[in-house]
Amino acid sequence: MDSFKQLDLSPPILEALADVGYETPSPIQAACIPLLLEGLDILGEAQTGTGKTAAFALPLLSRLDPSIQSPQVLVLTPTRELAIQVAEAFMRYAKHLPGFHVLPVYGGQSMVVQLRQLKRGAHVIVGTPGRVMDHIERKSLDLSSLQALVLDEADEMLRMGFIDDVEWILEHTPATRQTALFSATMPDPIRRVAHRYLRDPREIKIKTSTTTVERINQRFCQVHPAHKLEALTRILEIEEDFDAAIVFVRTKTATVELADKLEARGYSAAALNGDMTQQLRERVVEQLKRGSLDIVVATDVAARGLDVARITHVINYDIPYDTEAYVHRIGRTGRAGRSGTAVLFVTTREMRMLKVIERATRQKIEPQVMPSRQAVADRRVALFREQIEEVIQAEELDFFREVVADLESSGEADLHEIAAALAFLAQRERPLQLPDNDGPDIANTRPPRAERSHDDRFERPARRTDRGDDRPERGNDRPDRSIDRPERAPRENRAQILERRREYSDGKLIRYRIEVGRNHEVSPKDIVGAIANEAGIESRYIGQINLYDDYSTVELPGDLSKEILAVLRKVRVRQQKLEIRELDEDEARRDDARSRTGRSPGGKPAGKPHGERGGRTFSDKPSGPRRFGDAKSGDRFSGGRIDAPKSRSSSSGFDPERAGSRFSRKKPGEGK
Ligand code: AMP
Repeated sequence: MDSFKQLDLSPPILEALADVGYETPSPIQAACIPLLLEGLDILGEAQTGTGKTAAFALPLLSRLDPSIQSPQVLVLTPTRELAIQVAEAFMRYAKHLPGFHVLPVYGGQSMVVQLRQLKRGAHVIVGTPGRVMDHIERKSLDLSSLQALVLDEADEMLRMGFIDDVEWILEHTPATRQTALFSATMPDPIRRVAHRYLRDPREIKIKTSTTTVERINQRFCQVHPAHKLEALTRILEIEEDFDAAIVFVRTKTATVELADKLEARGYSAAALNGDMTQQLRERVVEQLKRGSLDIVVATDVAARGLDVARITHVINYDIPYDTEAYVHRIGRTGRAGRSGTAVLFVTTREMRMLKVIERATRQKIEPQVMPSRQAVADRRVALFREQIEEVIQAEELDFFREVVADLESSGEADLHEIAAALAFLAQRERPLQLPDNDGPDIANTRPPRAERSHDDRFERPARRTDRGDDRPERGNDRPDRSIDRPERAPRENRAQILERRREYSDGKLIRYRIEVGRNHEVSPKDIVGAIANEAGIESRYIGQINLYDDYSTVELPGDLSKEILAVLRKVRVRQQKLEIRELDEDEARRDDARSRTGRSPGGKPAGKPHGERGGRTFSDKPSGPRRFGDAKSGDRFSGGRIDAPKSRSSSSGFDPERAGSRFSRKKPGEGK
């Protein structure tokens, strides 16, 4: 399966996939999407890292009818973090579905807020079992229009003691629903649930072909996503036998972004992806062969069959979807009878995938010790010494000896000082030491709290309470205030807001983008602090801040001078230059939609009734995906298996602030 276009996904979903830069469906996606589009039940054995979220989100979104406001899809996840991640994935893939809403619901979150959001309606609910049960019991979650139910990480739900709750929920959803169960392992109780509640499920298991890989020294490196670039450059620097590397990432966009970042750090790097013409790709490979390029950042598809003998290292920057891809990737090194090294970056959540790869390759993958700053400095000094020794051996130095002798005889410095000054000059371009302010020393840091709290669930068995209460979520996944409930600015009353508006010019705020986001562990407080301190803008003039993975948006007064903006461009927060720039209209609209209602950009097209979207009505599409409720005689939907969903005219959305993914302060004048 080479392209998502071969799958019968709806046009808005394909559009979103083009935006996120996915090149090809992962094996689990290629297997699941057609079945889910057909309305079949599935039992999928897949772990994190295989692309399973998109495997169910893409087809279910394709079949969703955005004009029906009550929940059509329910996803159950074992933890709050996963619920948020899955909800965010739905948001990403539904970017071009007007008016789409997804709502994460989990324990520990304000019930009042949840009830309000549920009342407003959402198309997809992603929740933890205890809280979903609560809502069903309170009748605040109306599942009468539910078309599909997904059990994500079912074995984790079992391990955390949620399985009874899951069964209870299954029994309280329409029997006509489509069900997909995903689990990394298939213990008996999960099989029993599948047997009881799934209808003639198709089993999907990604084959793990066992292959032995000789001559390749394999290592893994546990690293937080925000530290990957730093880890990569340190590893490349420290490796003694490094000649050339191929770095594997998942998306086309990532190939370009990472190649640029490596170039900025002084490496000769280039991207290799499926969007490039054959000619351009051949040129990159040729340059790599000749040695005018040392690093190629590639997607799996683009690197298929790549045979360059000088590749000493394969870096799996993003984990491959399956063992077959892994074996193929690392086979790009160790060519022509040489030896090679493969390093696999794994985040804590992907550790299970590492075990699967070890089993399939019948080889233990040894941990790579993350080179510390000191180790990098030692290596640079060693290379520097080698260079000096070579120069002493090979170069004609008489003239320079005289220069040094003159300097010494002038009596201003002794030989040691002169040599030290020369060494200093020689390393100016590429310092021998990593600067102290070069970010956290990733060799010694723990991953940020967000990741830890998720993974702690693997370490601490959760306790159950007597009923479907989300005790494990409160215990293990206690809301992490710094991330999920960031400090709010003290609420202003209306008079204060008006006063503020008067004070600051016309009170107009403009939205800017800054290049620091959650992956850099930034908090809104850091952003406000930096802007206030560096540009002298008092925090009360700073409006809403929205945090995303790689960047954030912030509202600032509309009449900032060029000078202030120039200062802000260079300000660093968490070692990231802000590179502030105004959002263009499209971006601002999208940001606004996401921040205020969680809607996809554009919102509901004004004046266009549903179904007239540029003539691309889903139901118009003859062979396209079938929407929930599109009953056709003779197919699985016939006989009223799926009731005609009730239509409601309420609106609501994924409120990421409550979902723990965003900080937002009320815009001036917008206080409720
Ligand atoms: P998951 O296994 O669902 O947790 O997904 C793991 C990661 O793979 C996520 O960051 C996804 O954004 C990414 N991903 C999923 N499908 C694809 C694809 N077909 N191409 C590239 N990246 C993908």
